[in-house]
Amino acid sequence: MRDKSWEYYDVVIIGGGPAGLTAGIYCGRARLRTLVIEKTFVGGLATYTSRIENYPGFPDGISGTELMKRFHQQARSFGVKFKMTDVKRVELEGETKRVETFRTVYESPVVIIATGGRPRTTGARNEKNFLYQRGISVCATCDAAATTDKPVLVIGSGDAAIEEGIYLSRFAREVIVSVIHEEPRMDCSEVARDAALANPKMRFVWNTMVESFEGDEYLKRVNLKNLKNGEIVPIEVDSCFEFIGYEPNSELVQGVLRLSQLHYVVTNEAMETELPGVFACGDIREKDLRQVATAVADGARAGVGAERYIAETAMFERRILQREKPGLIYVYSATDAPSRELLPVLREIEHVYKGQVRLNVIDRYTCGSLCERLGCDVGAMTAFLTVDGEIVRTLERCDRRTIMQELNAIVPDPVAITS
Ligand SMILES: Cc1cc2nc3c(=O)[nH]c(=O)nc-3n(C[C@H](O)[C@H](O)[C@H](O)COP(=O)(O)OP(=O)(O)OC[C@H]3O[C@@H](n4cnc5c(N)ncnc54)[C@H](O)[C@@H]3O)c2cc1C
Repeated sequence: MRDKSWEYYDVVIIGGGPAGLTAGIYCGRARLRTLVIEKTFVGGLATYTSRIENYPGFPDGISGTELMKRFHQQARSFGVKFKMTDVKRVELEGETKRVETFRTVYESPVVIIATGGRPRTTGARNEKNFLYQRGISVCATCDAAATTDKPVLVIGSGDAAIEEGIYLSRFAREVIVSVIHEEPRMDCSEVARDAALANPKMRFVWNTMVESFEGDEYLKRVNLKNLKNGEIVPIEVDSCFEFIGYEPNSELVQGVLRLSQLHYVVTNEAMETELPGVFACGDIREKDLRQVATAVADGARAGVGAERYIAETAMFERRILQREKPGLIYVYSATDAPSRELLPVLREIEHVYKGQVRLNVIDRYTCGSLCERLGCDVGAMTAFLTVDGEIVRTLERCDRRTIMQELNAIVPDPVAITS
């Protein structure tokens, strides 16, 4: 790390898809110094789709690329910075997090993981030989034009597969769709299914999965296998589009953050991970609907969470831990009578010490995250003594005499203890 340059931000967002861009818009607008790091295209998976018809505000639909261009513009208009590079490593524990790329180490108190997912591939024989540039694609927007007047094969029957298949039918002579289910079952919505079945250019090969991809330099044939009778159905095409779901891009945080069984990052509804100051949003999260609209919602929550976390950290350090004088922090519960009844006693103690001590009172229920920052599972009626911004004593027994005895040990001018 020694040879790398170092840069400092309030928030570093890893991933510039819809979730990362939305988090960026919120952070930028809150005037936080915000960086988005993106390794391929700003816009993420949404740029893979020719038309988005279910994102509110665009009744005639909009191309994924155009929608993402607008997100990007909006983030930049709020001062968000972008770096096009791959994040290699993260250190997310502690107050200052580190995000490392090939050349630079970025430090920030908040990191937002928005690394999304990547399209799943079939794993069938010879697939690797033809992936992306040699006949197998996962992006209709990118590769549709090359299919003009040719037959193409689409693998899958979910919404993405069927909608992209319909889009491809504008270019291709014929769109053959391999569906794993028995006729007429598909995994897409009824609307998409009816439109596909009514499309004269689309043909369905039911009960099939890919057995192998064949060709030399370039794809020439896809062998499908009929799951009912084992028969091999050869499809002579040089373009095959796979739309069979996604896998999370979570390798970066493996062993760093808690992942679900399917390797998605686990967060709460506020997009917080188990590490303070670390949020995750969008398709990378364990959740049941992965769409642009849900990525945007997650990004908004993460952006607001980042802003609150930073404001609260500043408040905690400046006001609660403060360095000006010895401090007495008292955690109470407004619904617990004994802990509430001690409040006037503490105010009187503060008065008796004539400006030598600063009292801060925290309600355990309304300021739960401040309690967490005090570093322990704090019960009502816990007091902390601070000197120079550091906690020097934790008192679980809070009565007038004990507190004054402890304060006398840390103030310059001790006072007489009366009962
Ligand atoms: C073909 C297709 C059609 C779709 N159609 C629709 C639709 O019609 N409507 C709809 O709502 N949704 C649709 N979706 C889903 C939608 O695109 C996703 O739900 C959405 O893009 C998720 O956003 P995200 O920001 O969470 O993740 P992503 O869009 O996956 O963005 C994550 C970004 O993080 C970057 N990244 C990952 N790792 C790193 C790293 N280590 N360093 C730096 N950057 C990194 C990636 O390059 C990527 O750009 C479609 C998806 C596909 C593939």
